Amino acid sequence: MTRLYDSRKRILVTGGAGFLGSHLCDRLLADGHEVICLDNLFTGSKRNIAHLAANPLFEFMRHDVTFPLFVEVDEIYNLACPASPVHYQHDPVQTTKTSVHGAINMLGLAKRLKCKIFQASTSEVYGDPSISPQTEDYWGNVNPIGIRSCYDEGKRCAETLFFDYHRQMGLQIKVARIFNTYGPRMHHADGRVVSNFIVQALNDTPITIYGDGSQTRSFCYVDDLIDGFVRLMDTDNTVSGPINLGNPSEFSMIELAEKVLAQTGSSVPMINEPLPQDDPRQRRPDITRARKILGWAPSIELDQGLERTIAYFRERLKDLQSAAV
Ligand code: NAD
Ligand code: UDP
Ligand code: UDP
Repeated sequence: MTRLYDSRKRILVTGGAGFLGSHLCDRLLADGHEVICLDNLFTGSKRNIAHLAANPLFEFMRHDVTFPLFVEVDEIYNLACPASPVHYQHDPVQTTKTSVHGAINMLGLAKRLKCKIFQASTSEVYGDPSISPQTEDYWGNVNPIGIRSCYDEGKRCAETLFFDYHRQMGLQIKVARIFNTYGPRMHHADGRVVSNFIVQALNDTPITIYGDGSQTRSFCYVDDLIDGFVRLMDTDNTVSGPINLGNPSEFSMIELAEKVLAQTGSSVPMINEPLPQDDPRQRRPDITRARKILGWAPSIELDQGLERTIAYFRERLKDLQSAAV
């Protein structure tokens, strides 16, 4: 897009009022850009972006990406999609529509504008992986008809669309495969393990371990991840991805629970609940590609990130208790 007065970029962030999207808006504004934050507020919230409302470079737009969108921007970050199992299984058809129709519309927009487009893909494209750590050339082990499929297969189809628009129309695409990420502004009731354990410990209710708690995940702190997004977007047109972004340190759910209990000073018990269907046994990114191509690696370890996240939830729970928001 030709700008009249300055070299600052105008950047569209879909899903901008969500957990990751709101941190990305913060980062892009801090870098001096103009941001259009688009969101249908299904899982996101105006609270996540309230601090940006007075910024003249920030604009919020309520819109659903499953419908066409006509705006003029220089770059697109496509994050719109519910991300936690509880949220994406609430309306699975809408979840697939968001990934697939959303990708088509945002790719159509990028094609018209001839601009770079970033896709927030996911480690879920690897399903319940049979190799560990997962490299980008692993094709995955995904159930196409299970309760997680609306998300996993929706994101896989979105990747297909991104690569076909790239090959067929020459679009500049940047596909990141994001592994479990946590931090301030996670939704307190989205059922994800980090938010669940912290909220349970702070509320003096038992920690719910699904299955025997030996399944593993690798947790990346949000600031590290967002830095990876921007580095990927800033690569030249020889780089399309997919690139894994995540923290390779792997923990079992029992280990995570122990850390949360120690850091909150809570002594609530752990109770076992059934393992959800198709729950992956393990997940750990191989980030060789991100290190080499982006010069990126996470710098915030789980203990440090948990401390910041627990501090956030202490305040958030106070707000909820006083029914202020
Ligand atoms: P989130 O639920 O906090 O944010 C998603 C945002 O998208 C919300 O604000 C929601 O209201 C919005 N949205 C949903 N459907 C929409 C639609 N049809 N139109 C417009 N907006 C819509 O989740 P998050 O953790 O911030 O995830 C952001 C993106 O990153 C998602 O695409 C998710 O799949 C991906 N991702 C996240 C993680 C993680 O660990 N957080 C891991 C892998 C991938
Ligand atoms: N689209 C959009 N904004 C635009 C351009 C396109 O939302 O600025 C949508 C458009 O509605 C279409 C989709 O993107 O459904 C895919 O666009 P493309 O040009 O690839 O396909 P076509 O319009 O030829 O079907
Ligand atoms: N989990 C758990 N207790 C909870 C919530 C989740 O033991 O209260 C487990 C869940 O079964 C999974 C892991 O924690 O094995 C991560 O779950 P999350 O929903 O955060 O992410 P995903 O399964 O999408 O990686």
